[in-house]
Amino acid sequence: MDKSFPLTGWGSLAVHGGHTQDPNYAHQTPIYASSTFVFDDAEQGMRRFSGKEEGYIYSRWGNPTFTEAEKKIAALETFGIQKDGAPLEAKGILHASGMAAITTLLLSTLKPGDKILTHYSLYGGTEEIMSKVLPTLGISAIITDLRDIKKAEEAIANDKAIKMLYIETPANPTIQCVDIEQLSQLAKQHGLLTAADNTFATPYLQQPFRFGIDFIVHSTTKFLNGHGTAIGGILLGTNIEFMKGKAYSMAKTLGGNANPFDAFLLINGMKTLELRMDRHCNNAMEVANYLSNRTAVAKVNYTGLPNHPDHATAMKQMRHPGAMLSFELKTGLQGGINFMNKLKMCTRTVSLGTCDTLLSHPASMTHYSVPKEEKEKYGITDGLIRMNVGIENVADIISDLEQALK
Ligand code: PLP
Repeated sequence: MDKSFPLTGWGSLAVHGGHTQDPNYAHQTPIYASSTFVFDDAEQGMRRFSGKEEGYIYSRWGNPTFTEAEKKIAALETFGIQKDGAPLEAKGILHASGMAAITTLLLSTLKPGDKILTHYSLYGGTEEIMSKVLPTLGISAIITDLRDIKKAEEAIANDKAIKMLYIETPANPTIQCVDIEQLSQLAKQHGLLTAADNTFATPYLQQPFRFGIDFIVHSTTKFLNGHGTAIGGILLGTNIEFMKGKAYSMAKTLGGNANPFDAFLLINGMKTLELRMDRHCNNAMEVANYLSNRTAVAKVNYTGLPNHPDHATAMKQMRHPGAMLSFELKTGLQGGINFMNKLKMCTRTVSLGTCDTLLSHPASMTHYSVPKEEKEKYGITDGLIRMNVGIENVADIISDLEQALK
């Protein structure tokens, strides 16, 4: 594509964004399955190592297939956003997993004595890094309900060691949302760095950079890949100097780099992101409405429903409330197990973001060994079912739920 052609649609950018014409004229992005890259002569090696010449050296440090995925996601996360009269720029670093990207973020921005302000219901792995790994390095997390801005103000006012605000919205499993704009503004007033996990929303539904967030992380394993074929993650930032310097240096030293085949799968998956998300989201809305009218269901957690406590926040910052929901069965633990066992088309598994509908029962699966009081703090009741609504025909999804609910 001619780079001077102004793309006006998000979907066009998802197809063409980040693409560089292959020197051998391959139509699709090649999988650069090469651990290392050669130099024309020793002087070129010297120029590359010293940073005087751009170019690849070793795949832990960068690879052309990673670059294409990084550029595509950065383009989508910044699409249509202006800063100081110019299009906002972001740099991405592709990682082996969402957790690797989060690790690079935390270790490149925080030092012993620093604290992170965050909220309940973070992804389990992120919560574990914050509660178990960071404290061994002298860094700790303060957890509060960030849906209440007063609690955020209080926490920041009471603790000068807070250096970063870290949010995940929407979050597991009750699909809670926090107000990105409000929190980002508050954090900036106090000189804090800000980071958002945008995995559940994707840049199609929500762009945290639009609200001044400094860093975005994704588990690309989910909707961005879209087909459940690879684990991956990305760290993006708008401070290009920091991203090319400290963040890049931390990423290549920690060694949580992506691999070319997974990057290739990610690039191809993202080309259909808009189409998939539209279908996921429309189906989710219909499923949420259907579940709301079932007597076996005590509660539906979906921000598209006006009775969800975070409905207004989701509608303010998201194009659509998304594809994730959860619901509570009145029949508790055994009812949840029976329901899961009766599913015929929908898939019993954890994770999210694939074409097929995925259901999990936290009380018997991911949170089986978590004490009841602890689970309830996070809204995980015995009969709670989490659902990633897929892109099948919605009538089939509803029929499967209907026969399993009977
Ligand atoms: N963030 C969120 C919101 C997630 O759901 C996950 C995984 O489920 C992660 C981060 C971690 O990503 P990964 O499993 O790719 O390491």
